Amino acid sequence: MNIHEYQGKAVLKEFGAPVSAGFPALSVAEAVEAAKKLPGPLYVVKSQIHAGGRGKGKFKELPADAKGGVRLAKSIEEVESHAKEMLGNTLVTVQTGPAGKQVNRLYIEDGSDIEKEFYLSALVDRETSRIAFVVSTEGGMDIEAVAHDTPEKIKTFSVDPATGIMPHHGRTVAKTLGLTGDLAKQAEKVLAQIYAAFVGKDMAMLEINPLIVTKQGQIKCLDAKVSFDSNSLYRHPDMVALRDETEEDAKEIEASKYDLAYIALDGTIGCMVNGAGLAMATLDIIQLYGESPANFLDVGGGASEEKVTAAFKIITADPKVKGILVNIFGGIMKCDVIARGVIAAVKAVGLEVPLVVRLEGTNVEEGKQIIRESGLNVIPADDLDDAAQKIVAAVKKA
Ligand code: GDP
Ligand code: MG
Repeated sequence: MNIHEYQGKAVLKEFGAPVSAGFPALSVAEAVEAAKKLPGPLYVVKSQIHAGGRGKGKFKELPADAKGGVRLAKSIEEVESHAKEMLGNTLVTVQTGPAGKQVNRLYIEDGSDIEKEFYLSALVDRETSRIAFVVSTEGGMDIEAVAHDTPEKIKTFSVDPATGIMPHHGRTVAKTLGLTGDLAKQAEKVLAQIYAAFVGKDMAMLEINPLIVTKQGQIKCLDAKVSFDSNSLYRHPDMVALRDETEEDAKEIEASKYDLAYIALDGTIGCMVNGAGLAMATLDIIQLYGESPANFLDVGGGASEEKVTAAFKIITADPKVKGILVNIFGGIMKCDVIARGVIAAVKAVGLEVPLVVRLEGTNVEEGKQIIRESGLNVIPADDLDDAAQKIVAAVKKA
């Protein structure tokens, strides 16, 4: 789960990390009110969407030379005019994809005088099973480009969970960033605060780009991109409350209501599978035969007919889907339940694309019979390989 920048900054502040003062705003009037509460004379008007690259982003509705999704303002009137241009419009950044994201919230922040911009992020590193930090002097820009062009400018290190963050980690950061004296001390402190926030809230990723040094000699987190480990959310109801469903894939939200493990992908073949391993194998084999999956979907072990129906509806509602592959190995899951769910869903929403069904396991004959007698135009398949080839062929033909 992701949260907005302003929410991420509030979390950082809770752990003592330095952030600028600011207020979120849902309307132009609120943006003006927010600015009035700040000291000025410099304000920052920041689009709040769950994607980075906002500063360099472009609004679809505005002329190509209009400013991006993060703008400086030197007066309250300017805050107002920026807010008017941004709210309700669609911001396209390198991270939103070409469709962009509608800006429904702004964050009005006290502007900083920037001396230097750095990069600092923390993430869970699977290779070392530790929390790792990535630090670079090249802040404010696309870190992927820095990693590609000048990898020597990126320093990574991980933290032993047994010791937690240690003074030498802080020194590493200060050295990497070329900071000495008081600034080095501040950097060490910020690092410890960030680590505490990361662990305390079970984050999966925390990216501060840029971490800045102000002209007044202060270190500050000027941006915050935060995502949480979804498996830990039950421990953090306060973070769950920050969820903004308008930022998420509608299909994924619908799936979560039915406790379906669903992830939207870019391809054309909708998949309904039971078991995460089989689902992964299904995605792979579709790819092997030359098409791409439109989703990952694990209906789970003991799915009810209702759950299967919901899953099928989510798949068919996706305009990208040009064919559907149902691949069930009935162990705990029973093939007849799947068959009934599929048929109920098709009756409710229709079926306009080819459907390949591969059933195996518990109650398989009953399941096949239900599908045969339904009169639906289903292409039966015997095994995974056969099923994948059939659906790929059907989609290519269509
Ligand atoms: P992003 O483009 O989505 O990563 O949004 P950021 O929050 O990182 O803002 C983009 C850029 O705007 C930063 O890299 C800064 O250069 C600039 N910026 C943001 N806040 C301030 C500020 O308070 N003062 C100044 N001078 N520039 C700012
Ligand atoms: Mg940024």
